[in-house]
Order: sequence, then C-alpha cells, then structure tokens
Amino acid sequence: MASEAVKVIVRCRPMNVRERALRCKAVVSMESTRGQCFLQNPAAASEPPKQFTFDGAYCHEHSTEQIYNEIAYPLVEGVTEGYNGTIFAYGQTGSGKSFTMQGVVEPSAQKGIIPRAFEHIFESVQCAENAKFLMRASYLEIYNEDIRDLLGADTKQKLELKEHPEKGVYVKGLSLHTVHSVVQCEQLMETGCSNRAVGYTLMNKDSSRSHAIFTVNMEICTVDEQGLDHLRAAKLNLVDLAGSERQSKTGAMGEQLKEAIKINLSLSALGNVISALVDGKCKHIPYRDSKLTRLLQDSLGGNTKTLMVACLSPADNNYDESLSTLRYANRAKNIKNKPCINEDPKDTLLREYQEEIKKLKAILAEQMGMNNLAGLLHAETAHLAVKSPPLFKPQADLEAEKQLIREEYDKRLAQLKASYEAEQASRARLEEDISSLRAHYDLKLSALEENLRKEAAAARTETAPDEPPLPKDTVAAVDKEPASVQDSAAPQAVQDTSGVSRRSPATGVAVTAEGMALPADQQQVLARSVTMAALLTASWACRLQVLEQQVVGGEQAKNKDLKEKRKRRKRYADERRMQLVAALQQATEDSSDWVLLNVYDSIHEEVRAKNRLLEKMQRRLQAAETEIKDLQLEFELEKIDYLSTIRRLERDLMLCQQLLDQVQLLVRRDCNYSNLERIKRESIWDEESGCWKIPEPVIHKIHLPAVPALPPSRPSHDSPLAESREPAPEEDRYKLVLDRSDSETVASNYFRPRRTSEILHPNPTPTRAAPGPEGTLRARPRPFRLQALVFAPTTATTKSKKGSGGHRL
Ligand code: ADP
Ligand code: MG
Repeated sequence: MASEAVKVIVRCRPMNVRERALRCKAVVSMESTRGQCFLQNPAAASEPPKQFTFDGAYCHEHSTEQIYNEIAYPLVEGVTEGYNGTIFAYGQTGSGKSFTMQGVVEPSAQKGIIPRAFEHIFESVQCAENAKFLMRASYLEIYNEDIRDLLGADTKQKLELKEHPEKGVYVKGLSLHTVHSVVQCEQLMETGCSNRAVGYTLMNKDSSRSHAIFTVNMEICTVDEQGLDHLRAAKLNLVDLAGSERQSKTGAMGEQLKEAIKINLSLSALGNVISALVDGKCKHIPYRDSKLTRLLQDSLGGNTKTLMVACLSPADNNYDESLSTLRYANRAKNIKNKPCINEDPKDTLLREYQEEIKKLKAILAEQMGMNNLAGLLHAETAHLAVKSPPLFKPQADLEAEKQLIREEYDKRLAQLKASYEAEQASRARLEEDISSLRAHYDLKLSALEENLRKEAAAARTETAPDEPPLPKDTVAAVDKEPASVQDSAAPQAVQDTSGVSRRSPATGVAVTAEGMALPADQQQVLARSVTMAALLTASWACRLQVLEQQVVGGEQAKNKDLKEKRKRRKRYADERRMQLVAALQQATEDSSDWVLLNVYDSIHEEVRAKNRLLEKMQRRLQAAETEIKDLQLEFELEKIDYLSTIRRLERDLMLCQQLLDQVQLLVRRDCNYSNLERIKRESIWDEESGCWKIPEPVIHKIHLPAVPALPPSRPSHDSPLAESREPAPEEDRYKLVLDRSDSETVASNYFRPRRTSEILHPNPTPTRAAPGPEGTLRARPRPFRLQALVFAPTTATTKSKKGSGGHRL
C-alpha cells in the first residue's frame, strides 16, 4: 500500500480593523509559486526571516476558490472514489479557520471549503455512471472534552466514543442524516453552526472554543460490465478546530480558563500525536490522550487522505502564535498516511436498502395477485349484497367501520413512515412489521375463506335434491383453498368458490335464510381485508419509494458539459501540483549550486563568486542558529506553560484531597467509603470511557448477637408505660426496663421510708398496691436488684450497638 504524506498549506488573512488601528506591521510573506512562507521576527529585524515550505502558500490575494481547486479538489474527488478524506483548519483564534472552512456567501469566490465540498460531491455523484450513492451527514462538536451532537434531538447530551474492531473509533448515538442535495447539506451545516458553543475572549468575540467535525459518509455501489455489484464506503471529515493560542493570551478566567485548558489539551494532544508520528522511533502514538485525536486517529497516520490548512494572522503582535502554527504545520507535513479504497465494507446501509428494495418489489409483485383476489372477493360480496340487500349491514355502518380501519391503518402507516424516514428502524424491524401486518392480513383472509367455505357447504345442503352434485374437482378446489396469501393459486381457488355461490339464485336466499349474521360478518371481513390489502400495499409502495429516494447518483450521467468541466478541474489541480514540484526542484538546485565545480575566467571572478556563496552560507548558518535559539525559547515557554498547568492542577488536587479528608469523617463506619485507601485500590481506570470505575457505596449492616428473652413481666397499673408494654417487641422491652429503672431508681426505692406496719406485716395491703406479683415485687427492694441485673446486659448491648454502627459525626 503506497503511503502519502499529509498535505499542508498555509493561508494568511489580511490585516483586520483592530490590527490596523494598532498600527501592526505585517511579518508574514508568501512565495506562492514555491509554496513558501516567510516569517520575520519583529524583535530582531536584522535576522533573516524564517522560511517554511508547504504544499501551498496563500495570502490575502488568494481566494478560497483557488485553494479549493488547487489542493482540496483532488482530495474530495478521492472521497467519491472510495477513499477517506479529512480537511482541517488549524491556527489561533481569528486567523481565518472558519472563514476558510465555512466561508462567506459574498463574494462567491470566498465561499468556504465545506460548501464547495458539498457541491463537488453532488456533482460527482450526479455524473457517475452505473453507480448509486447513499450519503449521510453528521455534525459534532468537542467542547470541554465532551462530544455533543450538533444535529441531534438533544444537543446538550454528551456522547461517548466507542471503538469497533472493523469500524474503528466512532461516536455512539451520533445522528446521521441522509442527504440528497447540496441544499440539504447546507441546511444541516447551518443548524449545526447555530448550536455551536461560542464565547467571548479578548481575541475574537465570536471565537468558537470548540472543535467541530462535519462528516459526510458515503456508500457507493457500482455495477461492473458483468452486472455485479461492488460496494465501497468513504467519509469526508471537515474539521474546524478551536483556537490554538496559549491560554494566557486569551485573558480567559474561571470557566473560560477551564475551557482553554481543555482546548489546549486536545490541541497539544494533536501536536503530540503529530510529533510521535513524525518521530518514527515512537512506538506509542498517544491518540487516546484526547477525544479529538481519537476521532482523527485515522486521519493522522491511518487510512485517510488528509489536508491541513494552517491559518495565520499577518500582524507582528501575533508573531509567537504564527511561529507556533508554522512549526506545527511543518511537523504535520511529514506524517505519512496509507490511504486505500475501502472496498466491501461490512454492515452497509446501502446493501441493506438494496436487499430490502428487492424484497419489497417481490412482495408488491405478489401483492398484485392478492389485490386481484381481493377485487374478486369484493365483487362477490357486492353481488351477494345486490341479491339480498336488506340482510347486510347498512352501508353507513359499513362505511364507518371501513373508515375506522382506514384510520387505524393510516395511523400505523404514518408511524411506520416516520420511523423509516428517520432511518432508525432496522431492516429486521421492518420485516417484523411487515410480517406482523401480513400475519394480521392472513388471519383475516383465512377467516373470510372459512366463512366462504361454510357458506358454500350450507349452500350445498340447502340445494334442491334434483340439483346435480358439484363436480369433484370443483369441491376439491374449494377445499384446497390457500392458507397463505403467498399461494399463487389463491385467486383461482376463490374464483371457483364464488362460482359455486353464483350457480343457483336459490343459494343466496338459502344462505341468508340459514343465518342472518353470517353474510354481514362476511362482508365486514371482506371489507376489512380489501381495505387492509390496499393499505398494506400502499405502505409497502411508500416504503419502496422512500428507500429508492435515499439513494442518489447518475442523474447527470449524460451531461457532457458537466463532465468536461470536471475533467478541466482535475487537470488544473494536476498541473498546479506539477508546477509546484518543478518550482521546488528549481529552488533546491539553486541552493545546491555551490556543490558544482565552476570554472572562472579570473581569480577576481572566483573570489567574487565564492564571497557570494560565503554570504549565502553565513545567512543560512545564522538562520539555523536563530532557529535553534527560537526552538529553545519555545521549549522554555512550553515548559513554563506545562509547569503552571501542573501547579494549578496540584492546587486543585490539594483542594479535593482536603475536602475529602473533611468529608470522610462524616462517612459512617459501616460504609465501604470510610476506608478510602481500599476504595482507591479497588478503583480501575477505564480507557474506553476515559474515567475511573469506582466501587459502589455499600453499607455493611452489623447484626448483633441475639439477647436472651426476658421473663414475661406483668404490667403495673401505676406505670405510665404499662399499656404500651404488652405488644412491644423484644428490643422495646429493654427500653421499657431502662425507662422504668430511671423512674424507679434503685436507691430511692431501696431507702424508701417504710411504715412500721409494712415491716411488721410483710403481706401487702390491698389498698396500697395493685394485687398480683408485680405489686408485691415493687413493694420490696429485692426485685429491683433483679431488675438491675437484667438491666446490666441490656445497657451493654445498647452501648455495643452504638459503638459498632450508629456512630455519626
Ligand atoms: P477563526 O475561525 O480562526 O477564529 P475567523 O474565520 O472567524 O477566525 O476569522 C476572523 C475574521 O477574519 C473574520 O471576520 C473573517 O471574515 C476575517 N477573515 C479571515 N480570513 C480572511 C481572509 N482570507 N480574507 C478576508 N477576511 C478574512
Ligand atoms: Mg472559527
């Protein structure tokens, strides 16, 4: 598989009003024919400008049209052939990324790459011969490292990234919208743009702080000379990245600072991926470091043709950012991709559609036969109705019922249509729907046939004895009525049956005389069947139409002018590429002429020539030295940036730790979160979702050993708790004992003054205390000692209970 480098172009916008007002100097210049860009350091005017070479260099004179025709056209053309393609714009906020990708309506030459790509794709699709295309678009945004569907029902919902062994990385739940025209694509783009997150920063008040990816997914089916189908799939990612500037420059605070950090996280991850890919020695490419790099994984070092547009501001106050962008772009151009046509992809919707279309066509062809049957049945019913008008249901009732069924089916049909149009329903579901509808229809039909059979049998019994018996084959045909609508003999068999009914005018009378409900019921079933068949056919035909409309291609296959125009555009892109290669070759030869051995006429001439060469070399040396110094400086700046990020993260971490320490004291002891060290040990990092999987909080209930049951005690009449004591559970009894022990303290009872009579006559007097053992016990100190003994373990239990589980701060 041939590898292909990522194409990189640079585009510098004109000075804006603010820069002109600030009297900024232009530090960027271009040599477009050679694809070279020069950047002059405003702080060192004597130094030679930094020079970078790309696949294209465009300044304010150049339009997006030119950029598209020269560099983007071949890439998008590749997509229509089955290659994956990615075009992304990189640069600081306000450098012209959105201008390049989305562009403006006026002047038309400045229409963006994205609308141009739409036009191009549809032009190719329409000109394609023997090919059909299914095109679906999606639009997502990565904002604060969260993925949101800009065209989804809920644009606030965060979506997850998933990885499929064959499909690769994809966004779960991302809505895909079938598109048939440029206008539809533009409408989707517009809707998505209005849902993008924008915020105010010092640099550009409309600056978008999110990365947006508009993807056109294509499934292509071509038919070869032998009439065989060949499937291919391709996708075109159109990426508008957020500003690449350092956070300090944006003046962002609070939430915006957080955003800036995360934007930088994605972009620095992108930078790291680029560096790792270019390095060659790196085994690990850190795609997983950010959502953006995961989504662009295939575009950087994978099976995709990629174009990067590095956008620059010409102003001297943006020198640092411009230099950073140019370095970034310079690294990216060394990435090697391995694009190849994606043939025979699995699980394509186009194949599913094609199979479904075939099936539906077959069903509808079959249905035509069924309709004949239904027509005949209807005719027969009408015939019967004419014969015995008063015996059938009134026409109004019938109409109302028909209307009811029609409404029911209309509703069902509308539901089906909606779900199909939304493309959410799978083929399996459709088949299920169809088969359930068909089963329903079969059921009704067999009921109807059963009725007809009964009617025929009744007619036979009622026929006059001199009536000749039915021929054997006719009876057999009646008995052999098809059970399924798929039986092609059905119309014939039913026709035979109807022949039986029509044979004798007496039959109609006999049937109606036999049972008045039967013909009415029969007519209802017939009416329903006919309505159902018609509606079912309509639903299938509608589905077929919907499916056929999903697929586009070949509409302008005979348009010679359009084909010629396409050829010209292709030629133009090729020629321009050849020119660039030739110009670059020339430049290389110019710079290497010192290697050649020249012959000089005089020593003076030789001195002069060698002096020139020396000066050239000195300039180069100086440029190289400056470059080393710059790189060191940039490295230092980046280090400072990283260190400040680390310090801020450490502070955040500390805050979290301190909060945790405080909160942990509030966690009950029997909860697994009271042991945070263990929780940390048990937590697992989940690469897929990019977050920690931590144990669920669990509370371990401690079951105390059972306490031996107290001897049953009789209620005391003077105790206020006496009434509630009876049904109290065991635990409550201990509480009662405890309460009572409070109210009747051992000491006060024991040392209570007693009457002489009490001491002399230990038997209780009936007036003093309530009769029974309790009163006796209470009169003497001994039971209190007993109570105290009982009380002791109860107290211990309560204490242990408190100590083990109920501890809360
Ligand atoms: P970004 O998306 O990089 O933040 P924009 O695309 O929004 O920046 O551009 C910022 C401003 O500069 C816009 O007003 C835009 O019209 C203008 N601009 C950018 N590039 C060009 C260009 N090549 N020619 C004219 N105006 C431009
Ligand atoms: Mg923008």
